[in-house]
Amino acid sequence: MDDLIIIGAGPAGLTAGLYAGLYGLQTRVIGESIGGELKFAPMIFDYPGVKAIKGSDWLDAILFQLKEAGAEIIEKKITAISRNDQGSFKVNAQDEMFETLSLIFASGNEKRRPQYSGSDLAKSLGIELTQENFILVDEKMRTNIPGIYAAGNCLQYPLGAEQLIDAAAQGARTAAQVYEYLKGKKAPLLWGKATIPNL
Ligand SMILES: Cc1cc2nc3c(=O)[nH]c(=O)nc-3n(C[C@H](O)[C@H](O)[C@H](O)COP(=O)(O)OP(=O)(O)OC[C@H]3O[C@@H](n4cnc5c(N)ncnc54)[C@H](O)[C@@H]3O)c2cc1C
Repeated sequence: MDDLIIIGAGPAGLTAGLYAGLYGLQTRVIGESIGGELKFAPMIFDYPGVKAIKGSDWLDAILFQLKEAGAEIIEKKITAISRNDQGSFKVNAQDEMFETLSLIFASGNEKRRPQYSGSDLAKSLGIELTQENFILVDEKMRTNIPGIYAAGNCLQYPLGAEQLIDAAAQGARTAAQVYEYLKGKKAPLLWGKATIPNL
């Protein structure tokens, strides 16, 4: 049983996976396309503190970090998700099935990428969507279903701001909220290699 499965392996899902891994959660990121939209970004000039970086180089770096943090990454399409009676979730990814205590939707913007299918999966779980099929969350990135969260471009503008910095920041914030849900306390601060209690 995983602590967390993340639906989508773009910047939001990968960053959520990185932070959840650093928090020590048993984490699996499943994406039909590893890197998501970032794979197509020729050169990023607007990421603070980084003069310029190719999307593919940002992706290589975060995949290295994820491996270090112990998160699993699987390149597969998720075809179905269901809820168990005990409150956990079953996730079908083509020929494989996984179970998890929590989920993060990081399934991207379906208006831009109609091949993404996060909203169908969300609907099947009874998750509330906006009129335009974006996932609705509260200030803690929670959907209306306990244990299910969402981040990045699957949220409606201005949350889904179609910027790498927003997707990454929301991924990190959402992982902290999942930690709080599973452990019943605030996620620690990860500064350098130190783990400092969050006051
Ligand atoms: C050409 C281009 C250039 C860009 N340049 C910049 C830039 O310079 N600066 C900037 O800030 N931003 C830029 N962006 C935007 C940036 O890449 C996106 O905002 C960012 O990738 C959004 O991250 P996300 O994780 O929310 O979604 P996405 O990156 O779209 O990832 C969604 C993920 O969900 C997966 N998924 C969906 N449905 C399923 C399913 N059923 N099963 C499994 N996986 C599923 C997809 O396969 C994918 O892995 C650019 C985008 C493009 C296309």
